[in-house]
Amino acid sequence: MQRLSGRLPRPLVLVPTMGALHQGHLGLVKKAKRFSGRTGTTAASLFVNPIQFGPAEDFGNYPRTFQSDCELLEGARCDLVFAPHADEMYFSDSSTVVVESALSRVMCGVSRPEHFTGVCTVVSKLFHILRPDVAVFGEKDFQQLSILRRMARDLNFPVRIVAHPIVREEDGLALSSRNGYLSEEERRQAAVIYSTLVGAEQKIRNGWKSTRRVENWMRSSISKKKLAKVDYVVAVDPVTLQRSDPITIPVLLAAAVFFGKTRLIDNRLIE
Ligand code: AMP
Repeated sequence: MQRLSGRLPRPLVLVPTMGALHQGHLGLVKKAKRFSGRTGTTAASLFVNPIQFGPAEDFGNYPRTFQSDCELLEGARCDLVFAPHADEMYFSDSSTVVVESALSRVMCGVSRPEHFTGVCTVVSKLFHILRPDVAVFGEKDFQQLSILRRMARDLNFPVRIVAHPIVREEDGLALSSRNGYLSEEERRQAAVIYSTLVGAEQKIRNGWKSTRRVENWMRSSISKKKLAKVDYVVAVDPVTLQRSDPITIPVLLAAAVFFGKTRLIDNRLIE
């Protein structure tokens, strides 16, 4: 594969995914094509990375739709699909991981302590295998994007990390491969995440300065929906991901909310 990637027309632009593709992923591919231009290569990886799932998480049930993913990527004029098996990616006695130790500790890192180590490890491996000039990630996973930027900087990966805005359903719910797990009623109620983020933005623009007040308001707004169980809501500095009190703009509002067993994340950057 390394020899293959050495011969691919440059720039090589990579969109790492876990498959089960939707319009959000295709937005990333479209952006990737802007960077690869007419003569470069746009590549997408499809890999459900076992080491980024916790023991009680949905690795086994994660949607796998390889055929339709390939058709969507072909339709989006993606040039290359990299879809390895787990045993091609990881030696059975693999004992090396990549740990980001600051940004990974907060937000999703609290309830998913190994998650970002799994993400950093697999993305490092993808970068080594495919040697992209550019890699595109979604702002939907804002924390992941921040961590991968930090990793690329700290470990001198010769890759430019590019962000793509969140793609949403009509009612504001961020597209996610996990939305398909939701019952009809859960799906209806899940729109509260986005309306809460927008509502909190309004409060801040109207002068609310207390982080705790904004976070409490977000928590109670989401909790009004019976099927929602808040994992976290935060108002943090978008660079450090640490709470700053009082709130100053720019500020990142972020939430993780369970509907049944399905955990959804979303965020809004206020600049
Ligand atoms: P995933 O397959 O869920 O790991 O996501 C692969 C990439 O697509 C990540 O960079 C995500 O941030 C991005 N992504 C997923 N959903 C969306 C969305 N609704 N809008 C923008 N990017 C997204």
